Amino acid sequence: MRTVMLSGGLDSSVCLWWALNESDDPIRAVFVNYGQRSLNFERAAARFVADGEGIELIEVTTDAALIGGASRLIGGRAPDDSTFFVPGRNLALMALTLMAVPDTTEILFGGGHQAALFPDSTIPFGHTFENAASQAFGHRVRVTMPLVGMSKKQIGNLARRLNRGVQAEQFTYTCFTGVMNGCGECPACITRREAFA
Ligand SMILES: [Zn+2]
Repeated sequence: MRTVMLSGGLDSSVCLWWALNESDDPIRAVFVNYGQRSLNFERAAARFVADGEGIELIEVTTDAALIGGASRLIGGRAPDDSTFFVPGRNLALMALTLMAVPDTTEILFGGGHQAALFPDSTIPFGHTFENAASQAFGHRVRVTMPLVGMSKKQIGNLARRLNRGVQAEQFTYTCFTGVMNGCGECPACITRREAFA
C-alpha cells in the first residue's frame, strides 16, 4: 500500500494530491507528532487535507527529544534560524512512518526542494533509503519524491493544476513557530509566500 507522509504543510499536501492524481492505488497518510511547536495547527491541517480526500490519517507520536533536540522546531530558543534544521529528521520520520505501517510498499515524501539544507530530502538519499528499508522490512519499499527540484512557485502552480489551489492556500500550515496563520517571518513562511504570489 502507498503511504504519504503528511505534515499538514504545503509540500506534503501537494505530494498527496499529486499521488491521488497519479494513480488509483490505495493510499493513506501518516502524520508524525514529535512535539513540534506547530503541532496543533499542523495536525489540524493534515486532518483537513486527508478528510478532504477521504483518506485515512494515522498519527504516530514520538518523543520530542528524539527528533527536535534544541531546535526551535520544538520550542528551543536558539537565535539562529538554521536551528530549524535538525540533522536526520527526515530520515527518522521516514523510518518511523514505515514502522507505523510496515506493509507500505511505496512511501511518498513531499520535501526536497532545498537539497543544500536538507540532505535527507534528495533523490540519492531516497535511493539509499529504499535499499535500507527494503532490507529492514523484507519487501521492496519504493520512495517517491515528486517535488524534488521544484520551487515554491512551481509547487503552488502544481496545486492549482490539480484543482487544489484553494485548499493549498487555506488548509495547509507551514510556519515553524506555531502561531495562527503563520508568523510571516520564519524561513517556511517566507518561502510559502512565493507559492501564492
Ligand atoms: Zn512562520
